Amino acid sequence: MAYPLADGNFPIGALVLTGPPLRQGTAAADQIQRLSAELGSRLAAARAVYEAEQRAVRDPLTGLNNLREFERLLGTHAGPSPPIATLIYADVDRFKKLNDTLGHAAGDAALRHIAGILVSAVRDKDLVARIGGEEFAVWMPHTPMDAGLEVAERIRRTVETKAWRWDGEPHPLTLSCGVASYPASVRDVKNLRAAADAALYRAKEAGRNRVEKASAAD
Ligand code: GH3
Ligand code: MG
Ligand code: MG
Repeated sequence: MAYPLADGNFPIGALVLTGPPLRQGTAAADQIQRLSAELGSRLAAARAVYEAEQRAVRDPLTGLNNLREFERLLGTHAGPSPPIATLIYADVDRFKKLNDTLGHAAGDAALRHIAGILVSAVRDKDLVARIGGEEFAVWMPHTPMDAGLEVAERIRRTVETKAWRWDGEPHPLTLSCGVASYPASVRDVKNLRAAADAALYRAKEAGRNRVEKASAAD
């Protein structure tokens, strides 16, 4: 038996009971009827809370974690002796030109395309965030530099080779990555972001569409 659940006039779900049908007019049937009437508004309230929570941690354009959530999760990694971890910063190359030539809507579509590639490139325990206009971060706990570099290179290559189309036409897309690891690149995990940023800057300087590893000098 399926009992519709409604929020006001809108159907939003169903209460499904398996077993023999309850006969109308019995105490049990009345009880279920009352329960389903009450559940609709409760389900709607729970969904509203969930959606508000998601809005607080998600970037609306890509559905990725937002900067605030990225910073919060990175903060949980601090402490006296944090485990190994790797951070990738990725920044789309010449994105301003893409916006200027194809328009802002095309730019937004390209960002969503890249977000999809980032999510596919990482494991469940890794975190992907949009931390700026066309800047992304991949946070990989318990991951050393070598594995992080492999992920960054895979991301770079996929963005370069996977066709992105706008108005039916393919357009080239590339991004540059900076990769920093704790403890390989920095002594204090607090400096990881600055090290990834410095490596990303060098990737841009060296011609873009490349991955650079943080050095001790970063
Ligand atoms: P570089 O290769 O050095 O990274 O060059 P760039 O053009 O990618 O870098 P720049 O920082 O000059 O330009 C970034 C552009 O991203 C400028 C801004 O208009 C655009 N942008 C930022 N946020 C959004 C967004 O949400 N949607 C779209 N479509 N564009 C955005
Ligand atoms: Mg940028
Ligand atoms: Mg850029």
